[in-house]
Amino acid sequence: MSIQSINPVNGKIIKNYKEHTLKQINKKIGATHDAWLQWQTTSFSERASLLKSASVLLIKRKEKLAALMAIEMGKPIKDGIAEIEKCASVCDYYADNGEEFLKDELIKTEASKSYVSFRPLGPVLAVMPWNFPYWQLFRFLAPALMAGNCGLLKHASNVSGCALSIEQIIRDAGFPENIFQVLLINSKVVKEVIAHPFIKAVTLTGSTEAGIQVAQQAAQLLKKSVLELGGSDPYIVLEDADLEQAADICAQSRLINNGQSCIAAKRFIVVKGVEKEFVRLFKAKMEARKTGDPFDERTNLGPMSRLDLRDELHLQVQENIKAGAKCILGGQIPNFKGRHAFYTPTILTGIKKGMPAYQEEIFGPVALVISAMNTDDAIRIANDTPFGLGAAVFTKDGSLGEQIAKTKLNAGSCFVNSFVKSDPRLPFGGINQSGYGRELGVFGIREFVNIKTVYIK
Ligand code: NAP
Repeated sequence: MSIQSINPVNGKIIKNYKEHTLKQINKKIGATHDAWLQWQTTSFSERASLLKSASVLLIKRKEKLAALMAIEMGKPIKDGIAEIEKCASVCDYYADNGEEFLKDELIKTEASKSYVSFRPLGPVLAVMPWNFPYWQLFRFLAPALMAGNCGLLKHASNVSGCALSIEQIIRDAGFPENIFQVLLINSKVVKEVIAHPFIKAVTLTGSTEAGIQVAQQAAQLLKKSVLELGGSDPYIVLEDADLEQAADICAQSRLINNGQSCIAAKRFIVVKGVEKEFVRLFKAKMEARKTGDPFDERTNLGPMSRLDLRDELHLQVQENIKAGAKCILGGQIPNFKGRHAFYTPTILTGIKKGMPAYQEEIFGPVALVISAMNTDDAIRIANDTPFGLGAAVFTKDGSLGEQIAKTKLNAGSCFVNSFVKSDPRLPFGGINQSGYGRELGVFGIREFVNIKTVYIK
């Protein structure tokens, strides 16, 4: 069996990768476990220095790695370069701070000495999506390695080239052999990997459906899991918002990675009094985007990553129009040459409870506008979702914005007058159907450790 990488610009097969057999998989897991036995004894400074080398290599290779993303999943080249730079920054961040985050914590008891020591768990399986093929992996891998764990990666089937280039970076950075390995496998085989006794935990970034499957498999064996899943982030625009600024930020956020980001703005909940003006400004910003060849520096909107996903999105748009939504922009497959996966920026207004898009995640360049009577109504609608990844509110009243972000919106990250973004220094993750556990910051590095109590009488 083989795994294919297909160029979403023209549907051409880039490369076929031979799937690893069960025997090869077991051998790889065994080798990573053996590597870990030694790796767990290394000092923080040794690990930090290797992470710094990985960071340098990422920067050196950024153009080449961005080109690989452009060809495998359609990311515009300049966005790809920015993604690689962010990966380098997360390596630097944990190299600089990991030791401090994991240093022993003394706790006073009647013992002569008692403290907490954060110990590594062993090999962790990472199941990752294609939308940020490097960033999603590095935000797991940098803290995992710094904590003394090892990693095995099952990447999305359309980005095997990106996956193998990461393995190469880790090797070339000088990390010990087999510390991090790629498993070229179908998602059906993930269950077998989780069941391997040397696999101590699993992290999955992807859809809620895949998260539920993996969480069940891990739970049956009492293995720890972290799940970074889907979202339908609400962006609330209040009556006193700076509409020009809000429209600009909302369009940027909706179209990040061609709308294929878990924390892209997906539902725009606008208070009635400013809806007409906001929609006018927002439409102009969405229309202004240049769709085209990801290798063209002027392009700021590439194709979607896979043809089947684009077709699914188009179907979702049509279903919502049938259910009463109004399409005021896009809603079409552009008339480009070849078997491409492009989709035009689209706005659906008049979204109401009962329409599919009110509850579903829309994973592409399609914005949903929902009308709210007032601020309280907008908050109610924002929270009326099975998800809880990110949320944002736009208002000139800073303290009201903060109060809404802190106490009213149910999501893992709530931003005021800004789009939701991940940052190595800030914890990232969701609640409800968006998953559990956190990546990044101090919380991220403590997910896959044994919080060990040491007590000396
Ligand atoms: P996906 O279909 O769930 O795939 C993600 C990964 O899981 C891939 O490696 C996939 O392998 C694997 N997978 C799929 N079904 C599986 C199963 N039953 N058991 C084990 N592994 C399985 O998601 P996607 O379409 O690539 O990504 C889009 C979704 O990811 C969206 O919902 C998005 O919101 C979410 N996401 C969340 C975050 C976050 O941080 N919260 C970040 C990015 C994306 P194959 O490719 O071989 O199927």
